[in-house]
Amino acid sequence: MSKNAIENVLRNIPPINDILDETAVAELIGLHGRKLVLLRLGEVLDDLKNKLKNKTGKAEDMNCASESQKDLREKIIFDLSEAFKRQDLGRLKSVINATGIVLHTNLGRAPLPKNSLEKVFEICSGYSNLEYDLNKGIRGSRYDHLEEKLCRLTGAESAIIVNNNAAAVFLCLNTFAFGREVLVSRGELVEIGGHFRIPEIIINSGCIIREVGTTNKTYNWDYERAINENTAVLLKVHTSNYRITGFVCSAEIKEIEIPQGKVKPIMMEDLGSGCLFDLSSLGISKERSPGDSLESGADLVTFSGDKLLGGPQAGIIIGKKELIEKIKKNPLLRIVRCDKMTIAALEGLLETYDHADSPEMKIPALSMLAEDSDSLTAKALSLAKKIKKEAGAFCKVDVIDVEEVAGGGSLPGVVFRGKAVAVRTLKENPEQIRKLLRKSEQPIVCRIAEDRILFHVRTITEKEIEIIGRELRKVLEQKS
Ligand SMILES: *Cc1c(COP(=O)(O)O)cnc(C)c1O
Repeated sequence: MSKNAIENVLRNIPPINDILDETAVAELIGLHGRKLVLLRLGEVLDDLKNKLKNKTGKAEDMNCASESQKDLREKIIFDLSEAFKRQDLGRLKSVINATGIVLHTNLGRAPLPKNSLEKVFEICSGYSNLEYDLNKGIRGSRYDHLEEKLCRLTGAESAIIVNNNAAAVFLCLNTFAFGREVLVSRGELVEIGGHFRIPEIIINSGCIIREVGTTNKTYNWDYERAINENTAVLLKVHTSNYRITGFVCSAEIKEIEIPQGKVKPIMMEDLGSGCLFDLSSLGISKERSPGDSLESGADLVTFSGDKLLGGPQAGIIIGKKELIEKIKKNPLLRIVRCDKMTIAALEGLLETYDHADSPEMKIPALSMLAEDSDSLTAKALSLAKKIKKEAGAFCKVDVIDVEEVAGGGSLPGVVFRGKAVAVRTLKENPEQIRKLLRKSEQPIVCRIAEDRILFHVRTITEKEIEIIGRELRKVLEQKS
């Protein structure tokens, strides 16, 4: 484009005040406020000008060279509303999880039970005794509220909570093994994802890693031989997202014998997913519970609040009182301490475990894992019916059997039998439909298998069935 032509177009850009007066823009101002609209409009105009000046735009962007002021104005308004759409997708918003993965790490892991939500609302909408001892009228500790409940539910002497389980592991190692050795089996050097890797956590908490055993077999004597005067912690890690099977051996803490003349290291177990509910009642092999770890000889056990426990993101440390007391004195505790929302949510959750006869029915993550085949089938039929009614003209709908996993680094190797509604579109590419569902007003995250869009019903609520039918119709209508 010639320099002259570009200048012409630049001159054709309407004045900002004119654009602000447009109905569509006034609507955006009503929704998002004038300040933000001005900011985004500035970005849109800069972008347009830059494209013109650098001639980097695609052919259609360049077409505005020949466009009238009216066309240009429409283009600017379109770009502006697209910018707000993009901004909206980036906002924290609720999504429908149709993947069947109950503890979906990308979708916020465990949905909170009602009790937790009510407690957060109650505590956080006003003041609370977060750090105030109502009995004595003096400063109290935020760590005291949950300790008794956690001890009762796990059988521990003492307990403390921090921001997440990664922080719990870090804090324990930093408190007890700074500058000293941590023994860990080569079969348990876990990577959880999001850069949480056991070897790096050990090193970054200021400790020396001392690997023992092999990938598939670590015997008691591997640990026993490695214990020396500089050993501070013997760390066992739950292999939460993989399983080593076949020719394997791993040691139980209880069976490790401390060689004569050596000091017993602190026995620590990072459980990852701390389950307080006996899943064997659901036909799932029994998961090692925090109480089991203590019984097997662990002095300290760490686990997450938002995995199989079914609550908020938190790291829970339970164990010997003298050890928890030392952790409370570590200045780094302040860096990983959790806030009142977490404490409130966790208290609501623990009270559910305490008071409910069947806590698995009141804790969404557990009730979804516990949902039986009849109930899943009924839900799938109901969703299939809804989809046929709304969008039957555009697709073929079936109820199918599916296999699911718990997710969130929990229950590795356990397969759940679930039900899904499979939708085969008549014309449209299923990937395209999935993308549009993700970007719809009420985003829906679903799967695709063998060219069909799958809605797993385990993680869908009754209320969401309506919405899925409606959003799918909108998307398919728009595409055909
Ligand atoms: C999940 C997990 C962690 C990290 O827990 P977060 O609560 O996600 O920080 C650490 N260790 C193990 C074994 C885990 O499974």
